Formats: sequence, C-alpha cells, structure tokens
Amino acid sequence: MLPAPLNPPIRTLLGPGPSDVHPRVLAALAKNTVGHLDPYYLEMMNDLQQMLRDLFRTKNEMTMAISGTGSAGMEATVVNLIEPGDAMVVGVNGVFGARMADVAERTGATVTRLERSWGEVFTPEEIAATVERVKPKVVGIVMAETSTGAYQPIEPISRVVHDGGALLLVDAVTSLGGVPVEVDQWQIDAIYSGSQKCLSCPPGLAPVSFSAKAMEAIKSRKTKVQSWYLDVTMLANYWGQNRVYHHTAPINMSYGLYEAVRIIHEEGLDACFARHQLQHRALKAGLAAIGITYAAAEGYQLPMLNAVHVPPGIDDTAVRAGLLNRFGIEIGAGLGAFKGKVWRIGLMGYGSRVANVMLLLGALEQLLAEQGHKFTPGSTLAAANAIYAGK
Ligand SMILES: *Cc1c(COP(=O)(O)O)cnc(C)c1O
Repeated sequence: MLPAPLNPPIRTLLGPGPSDVHPRVLAALAKNTVGHLDPYYLEMMNDLQQMLRDLFRTKNEMTMAISGTGSAGMEATVVNLIEPGDAMVVGVNGVFGARMADVAERTGATVTRLERSWGEVFTPEEIAATVERVKPKVVGIVMAETSTGAYQPIEPISRVVHDGGALLLVDAVTSLGGVPVEVDQWQIDAIYSGSQKCLSCPPGLAPVSFSAKAMEAIKSRKTKVQSWYLDVTMLANYWGQNRVYHHTAPINMSYGLYEAVRIIHEEGLDACFARHQLQHRALKAGLAAIGITYAAAEGYQLPMLNAVHVPPGIDDTAVRAGLLNRFGIEIGAGLGAFKGKVWRIGLMGYGSRVANVMLLLGALEQLLAEQGHKFTPGSTLAAANAIYAGK
C-alpha cells in the first residue's frame, strides 16, 4: 500500500530550533528550481552573499552559505583553519562547545578544553591565561549556548585572543539574527550560523564568514583540508567570480534563506533585536510571576533561548507532552547535565512575537495548575502585559 500523503501537523515551534518558519520563506521554497549555474541563480547568490555580509556586519569577501546545517558550518570553519598538530582552545560550557572540541580533535588538533559549569560564561582573564599557556592557532567559542541559554560576550574575548596571536572562531548559530553580531568590529576571524534558529528558515544551510586573515591562514596550510566537501578554497571558486562547479547548490533552500534574510533586513537589524528583547522580557516577567527562574545568570541570559528551571515537584515530560498535544506547542527539554531539570523556550526570529508569549504563558498556567503548582491565576499574563504596557 502507498504511504499516506504528507500532512504535517501545524505546530508552534518554541524550542531550541527549528523555529517557526515565516510563510514568505515557505512560499520561496516552492519557487521554480533553476540550474546552479543559471544566470538568475548566480545573480541571486550575489545578493544573498551581500545580505549575509550585512547581517554579519562584515565586508569579508568570503561570506557564503555552506550546504548543510549549523554543524556543517562548525565543521567547515574548524577543518579549514586547523591542520593535524595545530593547537586549538575551545570553551566548553554546554553541548555545543563540547561538539566543537570533538570536531577539532577529529582534525588531529591538540585541543585544550577550557571548561565552565553549564549556564556560566568565560571571563577574558581566564581565556587570556589559557591562550598564554597554550599558544593556540585558534580559539573557538560559542556566543549563544543553546543548551544553557547563556550569552557569551565576544568583544572582550576578541582582544585577548588576538593579543595572544590566535585566530578567533565564533559559533553564532543561535545568536545571528537575534542579538547584535559584529564580525568586523569585534574582529572575528571565522564565524558560522544555521538557517533554522533566529533566521526562521528550515534547517539545511549554514551561513559562514572568514576574515582576510583567516583566508591567509588557510592558503598557507601545509596539508590539504581533510574535507573535500567543506574545503573553502574550492567553495570560493563557486561563490567567487570563477563560478566553477563544486557540488550542486541546494537551489530551493537558497531561495528560502534569501527570503529569510531579506525579511530581517526589511524589518531592520536594530528593530529585530529590540523585538527579541521585548518578547524575552515579557516572557521572563510572566514566568517570574509563577516562580520560574533562569538557568543563566542575570545579565547573561539570551533573549532568543530561555533556559528555565522546571519547578520542584513538576513532571517535566507531562508538561511538555501537554503543551504539544493540547496546544500544538513545542518547547525543548534539557540536554546533558540539564536533562529533566530545564525547559528551553525559544523565541527565535518569526517565533519571537506577542501572540506566542501569551499563548505559552496561558498554556503553562493551565498545565501547572493541574499539577498542583501554587500561583495566582492570570498572574503570568498580567506580568507580561505590564511589560508590553511599558511598566
Ligand atoms: C543548533 C546549534 C548548532 C548545531 O546546528 P545544527 O543545525 O543542529 O547542525 C551548533 N551550535 C549551536 C549554538 C546551536 O544552537
């Protein structure tokens, strides 16, 4: 028998990604497929590249979208910069720092993991001390640690990394499009993101950018990049003026990303970041009204990924199942050290809007009341409304 036709349910995606896709992006994905060397497509690539530079706030020539998810962006930046025997320092304070260290170890690098408890961030002093001791070629750091909701300030770290003569590699998978990311001003040498977090496009593309200094380091490698697919010198021949076939570009995914980034520029970066802050503040006020607190410290909480403690005595799985089955809302469970202890509420890109904040708070009140959690009914919505009213 033929399997059923596709009929995916309508969800409100308020987890760690994928986020809700903008309807205009879904429509873009369904446009006519052309060839990867079609003049129309090449023109679109140029515009997409320029929009990505504007999003990363960089003039870097080597700015493009890797065919693959955020992890492919991670792999592309690491394997191009690192050769066997090179030293790399990676900040590990959650799942994604640990993943970066794993990717680096697989290249044959000597990796120093600078560790911090989950939810904490790194100080410039401890990075400076490690850089001085290890003298690495590259320091890798996660700007928005999606497993803990912690925001890592990049600018102060950039200074100490460069003072130590190393290159700075930044994971901006969750940060890009939700908080300011200043590649040129902060002198980031290599950076990667993903299409399905604050860009609100389906998963499948990883925007990346390499500074001129990073490209020099890649050109002076003694060995070939271990990955044929992710070798940026070959990819540059397709994304640059030469237009030499490397692999077939995911044409329709590129349409989707094009429209997604276009929507962000249409709103304006500052307005987009302000919207993420407002929705975060409203959600946070609502959650505080029923005693729900954040995993990351005050001042280091991400607006687009709210990692909060599951209240004592509350059944984590039952609440998430209730949200999904009764309200069609997906939120994220805790990972690793936070398994069963934390909920990860994403307000990313198109998902970061008042309707979603109010829906989620109302749904949580219903589900938590059923489990005997004590609070004044309506208090989450009142607290969120006070934020929206500017109080
Ligand atoms: C989601 C995420 C990744 C991995 O991206 P995939 O698209 O799942 O491959 C890497 N780093 C961070 C910070 C992320 O949030």
